[in-house]
Amino acid sequence: MKSPFAPPPDKLSIEFAGYDIRDKQSCSACQSTLLMFLKRYGKELHEARKDENDVVIAIGKGHEDLPQGTLCIGNCTARHKDCGVFVSGCPPVASEILKAYSEYYK
Ligand code: SF4
Repeated sequence: MKSPFAPPPDKLSIEFAGYDIRDKQSCSACQSTLLMFLKRYGKELHEARKDENDVVIAIGKGHEDLPQGTLCIGNCTARHKDCGVFVSGCPPVASEILKAYSEYYK
């Protein structure tokens, strides 16, 4: 029997050029939030950045180090909140992610 749903992309960063997506030990809730977020707000996110650099995004609890300016999405990334933009939630609300990032790069 055929599934009516397309499978998610293996690597979100391939589907979304201009983003450096770091996913270490995240769960499907944050993955789908990020996928929906990038589809809906990806253009605005890049515009908020005001330069040509990739937007670094982290989800999941398995990160050792993250570069300064990383968009840390979800409670699992809370210990890295000092290195960039942290959006709390499990998972966070998509509109809050854009709001937090836009404030940081204002
Ligand atoms: S913050 Fe919550 S939703 Fe996101 S990866 Fe962690 S457990 Fe999953």
